[in-house]
Amino acid sequence: MIQDDTFIHLCQPDSCKSCGACCGLYNYADSTKGSLVERLRKRTSLFHQTVSDRADLVSFSEAIKTMEDQTKRYEVIYCCEYLGFLDRSERRIGCLLHPLQNGGADMRDASFYGRELCDGHFCPSYHYISREEKMALINIIDDWYLYGLCITDIDLVKTYFRLISEGVYEMPPPSIFKHGRLKELALSFFSLKINWPFISPSVHRFGKYYFDGSQYMIKHVDYESLGCDRSRFDRIFSSLSSEFGSKEELKEAEGIIQHMIDVFVTAYLKERKAHQK
Ligand code: SF4
Ligand code: SF4
Repeated sequence: MIQDDTFIHLCQPDSCKSCGACCGLYNYADSTKGSLVERLRKRTSLFHQTVSDRADLVSFSEAIKTMEDQTKRYEVIYCCEYLGFLDRSERRIGCLLHPLQNGGADMRDASFYGRELCDGHFCPSYHYISREEKMALINIIDDWYLYGLCITDIDLVKTYFRLISEGVYEMPPPSIFKHGRLKELALSFFSLKINWPFISPSVHRFGKYYFDGSQYMIKHVDYESLGCDRSRFDRIFSSLSSEFGSKEELKEAEGIIQHMIDVFVTAYLKERKAHQK
């Protein structure tokens, strides 16, 4: 990818957070935040204690595979043992083999994907999420765990910004999400990725995907069995790994999303009016 002055680095956008989704971060069967923090904390500490050059990586890798639970969500997706915390305050995750972590020595060629793939990979979010949407999301979310879940969910990001933009007749400028009420409201929407009441308990679900034992596919909401038409929030429901037990649950879910959109639109219009005075 050609990078220009306006390039936004989604992997490491600022000092508050970063993403490690394509290194397999969320592919552990237990990918709750508490479990991932423990895992990354222990391996980062072991890395700093035992690795001083490339020759130490084989024993580090073996130790991680013995020490950590290797149960995955999808067997076909690799979980890289070299993903860890980059800073003492554990706000940024990233590659422990990266030259910036090792006094200029690039050790990524020792990894499963190899240096070239690790260095040159730009996920679809780089291409499909617009510049304004990227900047807005970076302003909204400060936590690495939630950030990685959302920045890789193109449907969720694009649908949310489309719905609020339709309500206020413009794409809200990214700067309004930096702090205050509008940031809070948008953050509560994206936090549904973690606290959505209708989230499927299946370990083989991740966003709109599920794994059938050999491949992963898109899981659609079965509106027919609920006796309903496709919801206007269908993309959001899929992104949130929704599972509805009844028509009433679906209606309740639609009510939650609509309410969040309406509250944001009202707050935004009020702020815009106040600024115009
Ligand atoms: S999933 Fe995308 S944003 Fe996240 S680390 Fe990979 S390339 Fe970067
Ligand atoms: S070696 Fe590659 S896959 Fe592993 S953490 Fe580093 S960038 Fe990610």
